[in-house]
Amino acid sequence: MTISRSRVLIVLLLSMLIRVPSLKAQSQSPIILEVDATQAPQKIIHTHMIMPVSPGPLTLYYPKWIPGEHAPDGPIVNMVGLKVKANGKIVPWRRDLLDMFTFHLDVPQGVKTLDITFDYVEPEVTSGFSAGASATDKLVVISWNQNVLYPAGRLAQDLIYKASLKLPEGWKFGTALPVESQNGNQIEFKPVSLNRLVDSPVSAGEYYRVINVTPPGEPIHHEIDIAADSEAALNMSPELQKDYTNLVAESGKLFGTRHYRDYHFLLTLSNHVAHFGLEHHESDDSRTNELALIDPQQRLNMAMLLPHEFVHSWNGKFRRPKDLSPPYYEEPMKTDMLWVYEGLTEYLGDLLTERSGLWTPDQYRENLALIAARYGSGRPGRTWRPLIDTADAAQILYFAPNQWVNWRRGVDFYDESVLIWLEVNTIINQQTHGKKSLDDFCRLFYGGPNEGPQLKTYTFQDLVNALNQIAPYDWAGFFHKRLESTSPEAPLGGIEASGWKLVFTSEEPALMRNSEEVHEEIDETYSIGLILKNDGTVEDSIVNKPAYEAGISPGMKVVTVNNRQFTPEVLRQAIRAGTTSKEPLRLLVLNDDYYKTCTIDYHGGERFPHLVREAGRPDLLDQMLKPLAAH
Ligand SMILES: [Zn+2]
Repeated sequence: MTISRSRVLIVLLLSMLIRVPSLKAQSQSPIILEVDATQAPQKIIHTHMIMPVSPGPLTLYYPKWIPGEHAPDGPIVNMVGLKVKANGKIVPWRRDLLDMFTFHLDVPQGVKTLDITFDYVEPEVTSGFSAGASATDKLVVISWNQNVLYPAGRLAQDLIYKASLKLPEGWKFGTALPVESQNGNQIEFKPVSLNRLVDSPVSAGEYYRVINVTPPGEPIHHEIDIAADSEAALNMSPELQKDYTNLVAESGKLFGTRHYRDYHFLLTLSNHVAHFGLEHHESDDSRTNELALIDPQQRLNMAMLLPHEFVHSWNGKFRRPKDLSPPYYEEPMKTDMLWVYEGLTEYLGDLLTERSGLWTPDQYRENLALIAARYGSGRPGRTWRPLIDTADAAQILYFAPNQWVNWRRGVDFYDESVLIWLEVNTIINQQTHGKKSLDDFCRLFYGGPNEGPQLKTYTFQDLVNALNQIAPYDWAGFFHKRLESTSPEAPLGGIEASGWKLVFTSEEPALMRNSEEVHEEIDETYSIGLILKNDGTVEDSIVNKPAYEAGISPGMKVVTVNNRQFTPEVLRQAIRAGTTSKEPLRLLVLNDDYYKTCTIDYHGGERFPHLVREAGRPDLLDQMLKPLAAH
C-alpha cells in the first residue's frame, strides 16, 4: 500500500498532538536568522535570531537528530555563548536535565520577540560528518542546523525562517537555498520552512568555481559548486565535467523524473575538513581531499561519492522510510530500513558511476568482487550479528573505530546491500523472463510529477508491494532471509545469477591497489588476515585467520618480518615467498611497551578477490551496466 499525501498529513498532525510538549510560540511571523561567517577562517560563526514569542514558559531546541546522518549527533558541545534578551534585558535560561539539546526559559509579560545570540565554534577533528571540521582559512560549509534554535510545539515544516548570511569579503558561495538579494558579502535568502533551511547548506570560499553539468535538452539546471583550499584544486578536466553531465543524464533515464527545482553538487576540497558525503533534496554536501579532481588516484577513489549522494535525492529525500522521517529534530529516528535508504542508494550509485563513465565496467566488477569478499570471509562478525542489526544499531556503528570492524561489523548495510539489490535485480529478470529490471522499479517507486522537494514516506510493506507490481515474488520472505542471516557466507546469489563468480588469485586488482595507496595501508585480509597502515600499525586482524591465531590484534605494530625491518613490500614479498618455503612467517610485533615474536604458519601466498565469467550463463551484469542515455 502506498501512503497518500492526505494520510501523511493525518499522521503528522497526530504525532504533533501526541508528542510535542509545548504549543507556545505559534506566531506566523518568520523567525529572523542572521548568521555572520566573516570570522570563518578564525573558526567561529556568530548567530543572531529574532524570534516572535508569547509571554510564559518557552522551550527552545538545538537540532539533535541530523537528517542523513541517522544519529543524534547535532554538535551541541560546540554551540556556545548563548544569550537571550527581551527588550534589551537578559532572560535567564536553563538546560533540560534529561536532554542536553533543550533549553527552558520564561518569556516576561509584554514581550513579543526574543533576541537570541550564540556562537558555533568549529572543531578541528575531521571525523563526525557535518559536525566535524567545516572551515579553513579559505572556505566554509554552513550547515544551518548548527546555527539555529527553534521553539518547541511546531513541526519543522511549519516554522518559517528568514535567513541571511554574511561571508568574508570577496568569497563566493553556492547553495540550493533560494536567494532573495545579495549586497556585496551580505546574502538575504527567501523565507523557507525550517526543514528546507536545514536541508540547504551553503558552501563558500575564496577559491570557488561553478560548473554547469546540465545535459543538453534537460530542462532542470544542475551545477557543481566547488570550494577548495587552492585555485589549482578547482581545475576539473573537461572529461570529468562530461562524466558528471552524463551522471545527470543517466539519473534522468533511471528515475524518469526529478523532484527538485534545481540541483547543486556542493563539493568541498580540503585536507582540513571532515571527509564525507551528506545528501540533501536539492543539493549534496560532499567533502574530500584538496587534490581530488587533479590527482588521478584520488579522483578514482572518490568516483562513487557524488553519484551516491545524488541518488539520495530520490531514495532518501523524496522517498524515505517513515521511521526515518520524524517531524522535528528532537524526535528519535528508527534506522532499521537503512538497507534500503543507504543500501539501495549504494547499489544504484555504483551503477550510475559506471553508466556515466566515472568507472569502467572492469572497475565496477572489481568493486563488486571486493564487496563480495569483504562481507564474506573478511567479516566473521556476520556469524553473530545479522545485517539487520547493523542497520538497527547505525547510530552507534557510524561512530565506531575501524579496529575490530571485522568482528564487530560496521555500517555494513551500505555495501552488503549492494549484493542483495543485485540479487533483487536478477530475480526480477528471471521472474519476468528478461522483460523487466530494477530500473522499472525505480521509475515506479520514485516516479510521479515534479512538485519540488516533497517527502513521500514508505514502509517495508509499501516496498514489497511496489516490487510485486514489477515482478510477483515472495519479496518479504527473501528480504527477511537476507537480513536475518548469520551465515558465514556473503549472499552471492546475484553475482552468480548474473553470470559471474567470485575467485581469489595472487593478482591484486588495480582498484584495490589504488585504495591502498590513497589510504596508505596494506590489505592482506584474504591471506594472513591483516590490514596494516604503511608504518606497520595493525588496523584490523581478521578473527580466526592466521595472524589472529598467531596472537596479533588491532593496535599492535609489526616491526620486523623474518628479521628484516617492516615495509609493506617486505611483508608482501615474505607472504609470496611462503608458497615455496616450509619456514613460517615470523613477525616481531610491538604490543604497548613489549615486543613479541608471532609465528604464522601460512603458505597460501597473496590472495585477492576477482569476478570471472561463469561459462554457459548469460552476462546480466553487462546488460545492467549499459548506459541508458546517449553520451
Ligand atoms: Zn548515503
